[in-house]
Amino acid sequence: MSGRFEAVIGLEVHAQLRTRTKLFCGCPTSYGAPPNTQVCPVCLGLPGALPVPNRVAVELAARAGIALSCEVRPSSRLARKNYFYPDLPKGYQISQFEGPINGRGEVTVSWDGQSKNIRITRAHLEEDAAKSVHGVGTAPGTHVDFNRAGVPLLEIVSEPDLRSAEEAEAYLKKIREILMFAGVNDGNLEEGSFRCDANVSIRPIGQSELGTRTELKNINSFRFVRQAIEYEIARQETLVSSGQTVIQQTRSWDAARNQTVALRSKEDAHDYRYFPDPDLPPLEIEPESIAAWRAETPESADAMRARFVDQLNLTDYDATVLTSHPEVARYFESIVSRLAAQSAPETAKKVANFVQSEVLGHVALDGLDATFPSSSERVAELLALVQDGTINNKIAKQVFAEMRASQKTARQIVEEQNLAQVTDVAAIEGEVRKVLDAHPQQVQQYRSGKTAVLGFFVGQVMKATRGAANPKAVNELLRAMLQEQS
Ligand SMILES: [Zn+2]
Repeated sequence: MSGRFEAVIGLEVHAQLRTRTKLFCGCPTSYGAPPNTQVCPVCLGLPGALPVPNRVAVELAARAGIALSCEVRPSSRLARKNYFYPDLPKGYQISQFEGPINGRGEVTVSWDGQSKNIRITRAHLEEDAAKSVHGVGTAPGTHVDFNRAGVPLLEIVSEPDLRSAEEAEAYLKKIREILMFAGVNDGNLEEGSFRCDANVSIRPIGQSELGTRTELKNINSFRFVRQAIEYEIARQETLVSSGQTVIQQTRSWDAARNQTVALRSKEDAHDYRYFPDPDLPPLEIEPESIAAWRAETPESADAMRARFVDQLNLTDYDATVLTSHPEVARYFESIVSRLAAQSAPETAKKVANFVQSEVLGHVALDGLDATFPSSSERVAELLALVQDGTINNKIAKQVFAEMRASQKTARQIVEEQNLAQVTDVAAIEGEVRKVLDAHPQQVQQYRSGKTAVLGFFVGQVMKATRGAANPKAVNELLRAMLQEQS
């Protein structure tokens, strides 16, 4: 972006609410089922079928609103958004227009050491459309899979407060984090349960009037949102700088060609003719329910990071890595509390290091679910052995590798393989004596003042004890015995 223009960007995020069933029928919402196996007369829009609102979806939408600092309305309306498209069986989408469930809100977005408040206009409930599939096996043409039709979405609309692709990406990441930590969305971009549209325009710096905008549709990756917006800003700037005008249109990101391409222009834009759905009464939520959900809102990632830094003395970096997913944060905290590490910050730091270096590489994240290589209880038992000096860090890593491959506990592995550090002087003494007897030349060197040879003896004793001797005890014993014999 040159110095003459500024970009004005607003995002519409579509987040799937984590329900087992669709918004107005009992069909399952699970991903990946064979096409058209999760459908019924309601979500297929067959004549006479009546929608019944899913109470869980309404609750999750309100909980999302609370997490986004929105005004949550006890009463809101469902409306019909009318347009014709093959993926829309009823000829209209049930959405919200006037009086959405969540009104104005605000989130704080940080990137590159900067931070900014982005206003949310509204966050409303709506049903997802079906999916057009082009070419199925040997069958040509376009096919429609209605499994997605009627899946509950929350559409979060921001004010045009974003000024760069970088800010837009940071905002999108923040919204995903907030929804995941609130437990209402699984954040899965690949499966389409979190995606966005971006409205992009430019204007001369100092002008308050908005320029003509284009809408970038259905972006499902952080990288693409950034690339598509950067491309679009540059494209519009080139047009305006050369005296041409930006045409209001819908565009999509072509990842293969690294550019945005026009889908349709304003001329064939829809007039949605919104009106309240006569089949559905207003959505009513008891104010007491909203108050109760507010009271039980889970801790946000921001609050958790601040607590890890303030109370556990972790670095910002460690706190950020450990709050990258709600399950990772819970896992870390569970180990810390089992070790009572709150009272000893150096232990919390050791747990943080161990989880990052040994565990995270083996964690499988699938939406909000996570599979860990070993339970937090088992890892806590292992790290307790380090804490009480039974084994050292190096041995702990070796034991953990065995724990991942078997059901044995850390203690069983340590006992079976004799891995406990030997701090008992009598037990080490025999090994030290053997090493000294086997290397008379080096003993001579030590006594003639070349004390650096001590390291050699330590190495030999550690080797003889397969790393199990406590290095500090070995050092002390070696010094004492070398002096004693001289
Ligand atoms: Zn259905």
